[in-house]
Amino acid sequence: MINKKSVEDIEVKGKRVLVRCDFNVPLDKETKEITSDKRIRESLKTINYLISHGAKVILCSHIGKTGKNLSLAPVAARLTELLEKEVPLLVDLDADETRTTIENMKEGDVVLLENTRMTEAEEKNDDAFAKKLASFAEIFVNDAFGSAHRAHASTVGVTKYLPSVCGFLIQKEIEALDHGINNPKRPLVAIIGGSKVSSKINVLLSLLDKVDTLLIGGGMTYTFIKAQGGKIGTSLCEDDKLEVAAEILKKALDKGVRLLLPVDAVIASEISDEVPTEVCAVDKIPDDKMGLDIGPKTVEIYKEEIAIAGTVVWNGPVGVFECDAFATGTKEIAKAMADSHAVTIIGGGDSAAAVEKFGLEDKMSHVSTGGGASLEFMEGKKLPGIEALQDK
Ligand code: ADP
Ligand code: MG
Repeated sequence: MINKKSVEDIEVKGKRVLVRCDFNVPLDKETKEITSDKRIRESLKTINYLISHGAKVILCSHIGKTGKNLSLAPVAARLTELLEKEVPLLVDLDADETRTTIENMKEGDVVLLENTRMTEAEEKNDDAFAKKLASFAEIFVNDAFGSAHRAHASTVGVTKYLPSVCGFLIQKEIEALDHGINNPKRPLVAIIGGSKVSSKINVLLSLLDKVDTLLIGGGMTYTFIKAQGGKIGTSLCEDDKLEVAAEILKKALDKGVRLLLPVDAVIASEISDEVPTEVCAVDKIPDDKMGLDIGPKTVEIYKEEIAIAGTVVWNGPVGVFECDAFATGTKEIAKAMADSHAVTIIGGGDSAAAVEKFGLEDKMSHVSTGGGASLEFMEGKKLPGIEALQDK
């Protein structure tokens, strides 16, 4: 089990605390206005704790890709509203003014450093840049779960120079994911969908050692069906992954994991809401049609598995949920999870978006805030941003 020190385990009063947040919020391309402030709101618990415990709070985050040079100015403005106190944006880390502002901070004050990806040094985990970031503070708090799978200067580099602990968001993610997957209430049922086998091989292999039942959905279904000799029409298929798919099926047998594949599919000639759809057996898809959602029989079978589960872990939509015509399977799975008494955990950016789209977020035990990070966690990988923090 992962057991890291959190902000509650250290004395923060009067201390300058550097907090790595995930303020990588979506911005309107033209107006640069924030289109969803969810990530900012998720960070408030840690920030408010530090304010009320007398810390001097120095926030930092990346936004967008290196080279895009996006400014965190809209985030500073939104934080000023949400915290009801001025949050100045310190744009130049090398300016004397920046250092003076930080030296003059009072307990409970909050500042935001400009986008850590303004320089290539961030993603290179450049030591000098990490040291510079660390030099502003006496304690480091990592609360950016969405970046915890990346060893960058502001997530891992700084931990070399400061006592480092986690914030409440990372703590919540670790508790939910680690407990849910590594110490679950059984039976543990995993639903793995999404588009490709290739992006989910590692998570499938890792889960085979942990789960009681594995339900497969989404585009990767058809690589499995073809590997078994079925007819998949023009469905998504990775021909170079047929052997891997067969190997995964064999491993499940060897390990006594019940691996279920869809029995039927919603098919159409293309991905569009305008085309007619039909339901057919998953291994008898006509040559000119593709499977774009799990069919109603599969929905019923999967719902029964969810109903008897102790824990359900879900990564990857089971159909092209972005189109209403192929969203039913994903919606039914989400509803079944929402209705079940099981511990329900959602990982993956698109899966979280699907749950949000159906308005079922509040009915789940945990919807992870980190797409890539939660996938790597489920793959059994150690996340460098979490590893680097002090143990309890
Ligand atoms: P997550 O972000 O939750 O890990 P992925 O990125 O792996 O999920 O996959 C999400 C994508 O998979 C969605 O955009 C969805 O349209 C696509 N998808 C699901 N089912 C199919 C299918 N049958 N054929 C093609 N694409 C699919
Ligand atoms: Mg995705």
